[in-house]
Amino acid sequence: MKDSHFGYVRRESGRNSAETPFGWYNTPTQRTIRIRLTPAPAQAETLAETLQHFTSAFTQAVKIGWEARVSNATTLHYLAYYPVKSAHPTLVSDLINQARVKAAEALRSAFALQKQGRKVSRPVSDACPPRYNQHTYRVDWASQTVRMSTTSGRQTIRFNVPSYHAHYAGYPVATADLINRRSVWWLHVVVTVPAPEVERTDEVVGVDLGIAQPAVTSNNRFLGKPAWKAIEGRLFYLKRQLQRKGSKSAKRHLRKVRGKQARFRRDCDHVLSKQIVQAASPGATIVLENLTDIRTRSKIKKKTRTSRRIHAWSFAQLKSFIAYKAEERGCTVAGVDPRHTSQTCSCCGHVARNNRRSRGRFVCRVCGFELHADLNAARNIAAKYHASGGRSPAGGSLSTDQSYPSDSSE
Ligand SMILES: [Zn+2]
Repeated sequence: MKDSHFGYVRRESGRNSAETPFGWYNTPTQRTIRIRLTPAPAQAETLAETLQHFTSAFTQAVKIGWEARVSNATTLHYLAYYPVKSAHPTLVSDLINQARVKAAEALRSAFALQKQGRKVSRPVSDACPPRYNQHTYRVDWASQTVRMSTTSGRQTIRFNVPSYHAHYAGYPVATADLINRRSVWWLHVVVTVPAPEVERTDEVVGVDLGIAQPAVTSNNRFLGKPAWKAIEGRLFYLKRQLQRKGSKSAKRHLRKVRGKQARFRRDCDHVLSKQIVQAASPGATIVLENLTDIRTRSKIKKKTRTSRRIHAWSFAQLKSFIAYKAEERGCTVAGVDPRHTSQTCSCCGHVARNNRRSRGRFVCRVCGFELHADLNAARNIAAKYHASGGRSPAGGSLSTDQSYPSDSSE
């Protein structure tokens, strides 16, 4: 089953905690976590029917709004509520309302595109995810069950929380979307996470992202697993083989491998970001290189610098994972210019191309200082942040990055 959102973006208000003049963090944040439903066979049928009816209610509301040229949610409510409700008697009023709210959002973006002179047809959806709220569902974290409205009344359905989301279990929930992906039922639940009250400290932790060692911090932590490189390499090789083959079965296999790769990368990024953030004390500043800058700066640099990182694949994802985990720990994330971080001596500051870097060791030509090359780079990254007066350069802040990505690999 396909689900389309047509540019419909889920708002996660309060994503980025604001810093008060006192350097305290106290804004609660919202995260979307996925919980996997394990319905009994009859319940699964009911969920499928609910999804189908919700989609039909959505489509009807869109039609009404499209014809009347209405995208205002309240006006659409007056026009659409009774016709939609009478056509879908098994959907509770609140689900009818949510279908209408989603219809209004879809119409709004369609009309906005039309205003720009683009050719737009009436929004359609094969599977519009039912939106639940405090009136239509209740999560019981202790028994791992959710009680939710369906076309067959309220059902109590069991669920599992993926381990990387386990620490969110127990927080108050806001809305949730019911999603079916390859016959698996998921609830994408928005949870409200209380922000830690942490005073900002002077501690600065520089992080170098490498290949052999996925990450090294300036306080001497070697993080991630060196084995990731080989696994990623195998998947990459397998993908290329399948792409060359191009047969029908190869394409099917390729799709599977892609999903596997995305899941593998996401898991690595979860593990690595957690370790990075835990390497810093609450209130500290975590400093990364601004890797996006590299790509725009020069092609040669991109080759030499980015290619030696395993995490070049997913810097955006890793960055956003670090950003939200840091926020929860009361840490700030900053970015620095990546130039020369691997060529500078972290002891005397001498910068030279020919500062030797062999078998992972950095050796300074001037003072003879010798250190693990990635650790030397991590220390330079921390030093750069200090040198900038504790402010990250323009565009360097990573903490205001995109919201938590809901993946498309499942
Ligand atoms: Zn030196």
